[in-house]
Amino acid sequence: MTVYAQPGQADSPATFKSRYEHFIGGKWVAPVKGEYFEDITPVTGKAFAEVARGTAEDIEAALDAAWAAAPSWNATTPAERAVLLNKIADRMEENLEAIAVAETWDNGKPVRETLAADIPLAIDHFRYFAGAIRAQEGRLSQIDEDTVAYHFHEPLGVVGQIIPWNFPILMGVWKLAPALAAGNCVVLKPAEQTPASILFLIELLEDLIPAGVVNVVNGFGAEAGKPLASNPRIRKIAFTGETTTGRLIMQYASENIIPVTLELGGKSPNIFFDDIAQEKDAFYDKALEGFALFGLNQGEVCTCPSRALVQKGMYDEFVAEGVERVKKMVQGNPLDTNTMVGAQASTDQLEKILSYLDIGKQEGAKALIGGERMELDGDLSGGYYVQPTIFEGDNTMRIFQEEIFGPVLSLTSFTDFDEAISVANDTLYGLGAGVWSRNGTTAYRAGRAIQAGRVWVNNYHNYPAHAAFGGYKSSGIGRENHLMMLDHYQQTKNLLVSY
Ligand code: NAD
Repeated sequence: MTVYAQPGQADSPATFKSRYEHFIGGKWVAPVKGEYFEDITPVTGKAFAEVARGTAEDIEAALDAAWAAAPSWNATTPAERAVLLNKIADRMEENLEAIAVAETWDNGKPVRETLAADIPLAIDHFRYFAGAIRAQEGRLSQIDEDTVAYHFHEPLGVVGQIIPWNFPILMGVWKLAPALAAGNCVVLKPAEQTPASILFLIELLEDLIPAGVVNVVNGFGAEAGKPLASNPRIRKIAFTGETTTGRLIMQYASENIIPVTLELGGKSPNIFFDDIAQEKDAFYDKALEGFALFGLNQGEVCTCPSRALVQKGMYDEFVAEGVERVKKMVQGNPLDTNTMVGAQASTDQLEKILSYLDIGKQEGAKALIGGERMELDGDLSGGYYVQPTIFEGDNTMRIFQEEIFGPVLSLTSFTDFDEAISVANDTLYGLGAGVWSRNGTTAYRAGRAIQAGRVWVNNYHNYPAHAAFGGYKSSGIGRENHLMMLDHYQQTKNLLVSY
């Protein structure tokens, strides 16, 4: 066990600067209007850095820098881009621990997750796209004896990217790696709740990245996000965040007829068929782990398995053991590697979750565990902690239909396969889902019938770079990860040549 820092021993365990500017054209640049906002750590509820508050003027400056860099970066070969991406991955690997601690301090998530998952996945993402861009090939079609259609991939030019606060570094890298691999320059806006960790990363990488190829403008959605997403000088906007914001992003993009990728909210079902209980073996244990995964990242995951559907044949026994599993989830100082559930990312998020705990109770759902704010001692007493909570109820309730984005599981039972699929699909969303069964046919049929872009069968919360990820229905448009992501960052040029 390692405790990276006890809050209170130092202002911050990571070597953050006390002030961060925008990163534009390879330099740290003060905001045009001279205003700053506070970045607060949810670990203790205290501010630890001030950050440039961007406006439309800063976005224009970043776009100037990006377009100045575009002719040479757009013209690089895939092999040259791969060199940069691999160097970035190497630098991140050398500094993995420092980046993980920074991410934990900024977001409140346990350092055991940032060390073992968030940052290693981000590193692998750069390596994956370094390889993918070199393996990408164009296409050739023979039209007739004299005429050939060649298809080339070309960069879009300059793209805009807007990310949320729940996985600041991983979501940033999911956007940056394919965009850079495809030869684009980028203007990225981090979430206002968690700008520092991604700025910390940029600081580590700044000498590697050609000036203007990656630009970061900080600030709030309406002040910095909108002028970026609605700007006629970007060739694409890639967005991850709430479904309501995604609707606005699409409206802005429609003015400029540019492509969007939207990675939005979810209310993912996790379905447990009762053949699981045929034996109390390793598979049964794995399914119980899967049941408890709604607490991962404090439930602040777009694919949080926030609705559990457990078949009636094993309901009482499986749920009782699931509740015991949740009791064992250690909650507390996110900088302690023993901690499994850390702090919610912001006061707004804390308040939102607490309000849903009230809504659940008012709707008549029964709390099997949790249901309250978690009070911790000492410096952690000001932090934003919520007890992992399981509510038993039915799928018509608001706590089953609305994204809470906290460690709150809405649990119900089902009788047969058709009922499970009908309840699972009775939602606005279609991002993730889980299916647990010993029966391959049941698992396959359920996986195909669920309307979601990612269905985990007998596992959950795995995010390999080479598996496509994205939403059906109100969960989004387009896919991230996988080779197909490159298509979202490239134009197809068709040269129709007669010889
Ligand atoms: P949010 O929509 O409030 O904010 C996301 C980003 O959009 C922030 O950077 C914000 O400043 C910016 N923004 C807000 N209003 C804007 C506007 N009018 N114009 C341009 N930019 C604007 O979302 P959030 O609360 O930061 O993130 C949580 C949400 O993200 C959840 O709904 C979650 O499910 C979703 N999410 C989805 C995925 C996925 O891959 N599908 C991944 C992570 C998070």
